[in-house]
Amino acid sequence: MQSMSKINNSGRSITFSGKNENVMNPDPRSRAWVEVDSKVIENNSRVLKNFIGPECLLMAVVKADGYGHGAETVANAALLGGADSLGVATLEEGIQLRNAGLKCQILILGNLINAEELYYSFCWDLIPTISGIREAIICNNIAENKHKKFVIHLKVDTGMTRLGCQCNEVEELISKIDYLENISLKGIYSHLAMADKDLESNMNQSFTQIQLNRFEKVLKDLGKRNKLLCKHLANSAGTLSDRRLHFDMVRVGLSLYGYYPLNDFESDLRLDPALKVKARVTLVREVEKDTGVGYGHFFKTQRKSKLAVVAIGYADGVSRNLSGKISASIDGFLVPQVGAIAMDQMVFDITDKPDIKTGQVLTLLGTDGEVSISPQNWCDLSGSIPWEVLCSFRNRLPRVVT
Ligand SMILES: *Cc1c(COP(=O)(O)O)cnc(C)c1O
Repeated sequence: MQSMSKINNSGRSITFSGKNENVMNPDPRSRAWVEVDSKVIENNSRVLKNFIGPECLLMAVVKADGYGHGAETVANAALLGGADSLGVATLEEGIQLRNAGLKCQILILGNLINAEELYYSFCWDLIPTISGIREAIICNNIAENKHKKFVIHLKVDTGMTRLGCQCNEVEELISKIDYLENISLKGIYSHLAMADKDLESNMNQSFTQIQLNRFEKVLKDLGKRNKLLCKHLANSAGTLSDRRLHFDMVRVGLSLYGYYPLNDFESDLRLDPALKVKARVTLVREVEKDTGVGYGHFFKTQRKSKLAVVAIGYADGVSRNLSGKISASIDGFLVPQVGAIAMDQMVFDITDKPDIKTGQVLTLLGTDGEVSISPQNWCDLSGSIPWEVLCSFRNRLPRVVT
C-alpha cells in the first residue's frame, strides 16, 4: 500500500500517494504563485496604529482570505504590528482563524440569520453583527444557562442601504436588547458608502458627512448608554480621510495590504503593498509576421516575433478582461501580454527582450526592481476595483509567505 499524505498548500490540502514526501512535494514556485511579505503587513499595521493614536482601536479586516493574502498570515502579522482585533465576513472565516489559534476578538461583519450559525458563533467566541430584534432573541436563547453572555455588536444603516437597522429604530432596539439578560451589547457601528469617492471632494458637503451626522445623532440620542459601547464607522478610506470618522475603532482592510483607497491619494502615511503575483515562462517560441495568437486570434503579430508562454490564466485570478492590455516585468523590463488570456496560460510578446528563457519568472503584479505594477493599474484597464483584483487570487495559486 502506498501511503497517503497531506501537504498544506496555501490553506488547501492536497492529498497524494507516494513513498517519499519530500520528493512528492512540488515547489510552490514551479508554475505561478502569490508572494506575500508578512513583515510588510506587520509594518502597515504599525503605521496605521500609530496614525490612529492610542485612543482608537485597530480592527484588521481579513475577510476573503485576507484579501487573497492568506487570512491566517495576515491576522498574525497585523496583530504583531499592533492591531487589536479582526474582522471577517462569514462564520467559516471566523472559525478558520480560531482553528489557526487566534485568540483575539473577531467580529463577523456579515449577517448570520439562523440559530445554528449563531450557535456556532457563540461556541467559537465570534461576535455577530445584529441588525434586528429577531437575531438578538435567538442569541439570547442560545446563551441561556451558559456560563457566559453572548457578546454582540449592533449595526445601524446610516446610508449604505445594506445591513443594519434604521437610525430611528436604534433606541427602541437597544432598550429591548437591554432586557435580554444573556446578551452583552458591546458595540455599535455603521458602514460608509462613499468614503473613497468623497476623498476627492470636500468632505463637509459630502455624503460621508451626512452619514457621520446621522451616526452622531444616533449616539447622542442614546445618551450615557453610548459610553459603554465601542463605536465604529470608518473603513480604510474613512480612516485615512478624516479623524472625525475614527470614533473608538477603525476597520481597515485595503490599506493594511498597502494600498490607498483612491488612485493618487496624497498621504504622509507610508504603506507598502505586501503582495506579488509571479509566473514562469514555460515555452519560448519564434513566429512569423501575421501569426494569430491564442483563442480567437485576437492578436496577430505585426512582425516576426518572439513569444513567451506563461503558466497563469484567468482560473488563477487574472481577469480575461485584461487580455492584451497588461504588461509584466522581467528584471525591471516590461513586456506586453498579447492575445486572449486563457484559463491556464497567457502569451507575452518578448521580441524586444529576446534573451528571456524558459523557466524565467515574470512579475505580473507588485514591485520588480524599478517597476511597480499595482492592482489599480489593472483596474484602470479593466474597470474593476483593487478589492476585487486582490481577492480573485485564491483559487489555484499557491501562496508563498516571505
Ligand atoms: C470590508 C469591510 C471593511 C474594510 O474595508 P476597506 O475599504 O477594505 O478598508 C470595513 N467594514 C466593513 C463592514 C466591511 O465589510
